[in-house]
Amino acid sequence: MNTAYLYSDAFHGFDYGAGHPLKTFRLKLTHELIKACGLLVPDDPRVIVPAPAKREDLLAFHTPEYIDMLEASNSGKAVPGAAAYGLGSGDNPIFPGMYDWSRLVAGASLKAAALVDSGEAAIAFNIAGGLHHALSGRASGFCYINDPVLAITLLLARGRRVAYIDIDAHHGDGVQAAFYDTDKVLTISLHETGTTLFPGTGFEQETGEGAGKGYSVNVPLPPEAGDELFVRAFTEAVPQRIERFRPDVIVSQLGVDTFRSDPLAHLNVTTEGFCTMVGMIKSLAPKWVALGGGGYDVANVARAWTLAWAIMNDVQAPEEIPLSFMEQFSGAGFPDRKLRDAFS
Ligand code: ZN
Repeated sequence: MNTAYLYSDAFHGFDYGAGHPLKTFRLKLTHELIKACGLLVPDDPRVIVPAPAKREDLLAFHTPEYIDMLEASNSGKAVPGAAAYGLGSGDNPIFPGMYDWSRLVAGASLKAAALVDSGEAAIAFNIAGGLHHALSGRASGFCYINDPVLAITLLLARGRRVAYIDIDAHHGDGVQAAFYDTDKVLTISLHETGTTLFPGTGFEQETGEGAGKGYSVNVPLPPEAGDELFVRAFTEAVPQRIERFRPDVIVSQLGVDTFRSDPLAHLNVTTEGFCTMVGMIKSLAPKWVALGGGGYDVANVARAWTLAWAIMNDVQAPEEIPLSFMEQFSGAGFPDRKLRDAFS
């Protein structure tokens, strides 16, 4: 199966600011670990360097007023009225290059969708993507531009039937909202319950409206759910619905803030549970646009997405992280050299 991996060195050239949980360094760390494990080779044809999305691409979902405000705030200085668009709060700081960063991430997800649509790749992975909280006219939850919505919208415009699966610790509220009233997209989100975690939505009774009734599926999980409960919930909620919906393409958000060491959420998932779900998505997907998502323990983000990339390519990842990598990134918080399930 043909795979593509979207990556730009510019991904980690942006900084949300000291003390912000989202570190773009996690993308460099993941990329370096994938290479160190031999899962990408020098001049690998699978690596596609994305271009930033154009303004008109963003307007497929976002309002012109909001895009104007992002553009005006790109210098890193707040402009009057920015707060009304969710900009400048602790979660969504105005940092230098904020708009450039958002356009680049969105460009990578759009390219991933285009590669899959054209048949150039059966699977395309954008580790920087999955910014699922952004709304059409407002930043939310570290997300400025909703790249999953843009990727799905591109696929719909090309006549594809799309299912969206979101296994981030947080409810995929922005994606759900974008397709809440249509039966053209099936959205399924498994997450920590909104009673204990941002954004406070994603309950079972949120099932869609109008033509979209029944096409939004939410599986809220209790804190401390762990692999067993999370994977059981996935197995009960996802495969039969996907088989019934018969998508041409699955777009998935593979957030790893579900992990037991994550500082923001409390789901206690390990690489074992995560990889089981990634493998199930692979077996369900005729074509697959895979996106990153949350994940705030950078060592575990790198481990998890390295393993996901191995699964996408049907290859075995090594048991141990190479020593040279451990030495180079000794400050990144790897507790030991195990690639899988080394979290206790
Ligand atoms: Zn999250």
